[in-house]
Amino acid sequence: MAKINQNYKQLQGSYLFAEVARRRTKFMSENPNAQIISLGIGDVTRPLPEAVLSGLHEAVDEMAEAGSFRGYGPEQGYDFLLNAIIENDYKARGIDLKTNEVFVSDGSKCDVGNIQEIFSLDSVVAVTDPVYPVYVDTNVMAGRSGEYVKDLNRYSNIVYLPCNAENNFIPSLPDKKVDLIYLCYPNNPTGMTLSKEELKKWVDFAKANKCIILYDSAYEAYIQEKDVPRSIYEIEGAKEVAIEFRSFSKTAGFTGVRCAYTVVPKEVLAYDEEGNAVPVNDLWNRRQTTKFNGCSYITQKGAAAVYTPEGKAQIAKLVDYYMANAKIIREGIAGLGIQVFGGVNAPYIWLKTPNNMGSWEFFDKLLNEANIVGTPGVGFGQSGQGYFRLTAFGSRENTEKAVERIKNLQF
Ligand code: PLP
Repeated sequence: MAKINQNYKQLQGSYLFAEVARRRTKFMSENPNAQIISLGIGDVTRPLPEAVLSGLHEAVDEMAEAGSFRGYGPEQGYDFLLNAIIENDYKARGIDLKTNEVFVSDGSKCDVGNIQEIFSLDSVVAVTDPVYPVYVDTNVMAGRSGEYVKDLNRYSNIVYLPCNAENNFIPSLPDKKVDLIYLCYPNNPTGMTLSKEELKKWVDFAKANKCIILYDSAYEAYIQEKDVPRSIYEIEGAKEVAIEFRSFSKTAGFTGVRCAYTVVPKEVLAYDEEGNAVPVNDLWNRRQTTKFNGCSYITQKGAAAVYTPEGKAQIAKLVDYYMANAKIIREGIAGLGIQVFGGVNAPYIWLKTPNNMGSWEFFDKLLNEANIVGTPGVGFGQSGQGYFRLTAFGSRENTEKAVERIKNLQF
């Protein structure tokens, strides 16, 4: 008899976007003429930059000739892309990496989801709350989470680090033993960042406690302020304790093309049952070469074009476009006397619902009275209750229209 992985029965995650879709569909069926604007999902809307398109086209043409056709490539990625990543994203910031410390993949979601499997099942996982749900759910599937406690909207074995307006969205260091710490900066969903001083506390904590930091910087390209760290490796000692995840999805419009990379420095160590140190890089390499067959040559050529002078200029424009939307949302909403966070170094605006409305109550008000779909903060964790996420990834026209509609609401 085939039995299921019982851990899957503990999953609660799909509730959020399924419930958003259910309420939206119901509203549309009752109000067929409503012009709904979605500032809900974190997907980009602008076309791919020209330089990327040229890179992709050229690679497609190469595939047509026997002499330049490519089959399976290296599972870790082609050197031309690995070198471009290292030169531009790291060396330019004084960080030295070798090509065998960078692993190209077809997305950060897979990488942040898969990374947990190289660690022991009894590892204690810490996450910020609110949190990108993939970190939690993949640990639930693996069996690390313990039971879901409905009243708390939390899992019993996961250590939650609340981030809210009271602590300015700066998580406190855990007050109990943890092994793996997921950090995401700029943060999805709050749009907030950590300073170098704050991030250093985490690196020092990880070193002192032999923890590993899983640092997701999918939104790094959106950082506008000079002193905000773009890579955790800007912090002294981080190469011993941190794995960094980056994606071309939000940087260059690759959500549908699929390309990302993960940095696993050779110095990062974890321990076996006997207490022997094992380089995590070896385990990840083994995992990837066994279960992943590489990101396509065509895609990697498109990604490498991001680092050409034209590519850099075009992605800067793309980021400017979305960040101008973020400013419109931020300022429009702040002008109503509503507390807003994020939107300065990230394409997410996190607002405190007025009059202590619950996240779902605010969702319904926005949908019913302004025909706008956003994302209830509580869907990202209990500390998100009373908050709401709007994204800057819409068109300028829709963003402006949405803000005008919100301005006409009575709170
Ligand atoms: N990490 C964070 C924090 C995200 O918000 C997202 C996508 O929304 C991802 C990772 C996934 O990125 P990718 O498209 O590379 O899978």
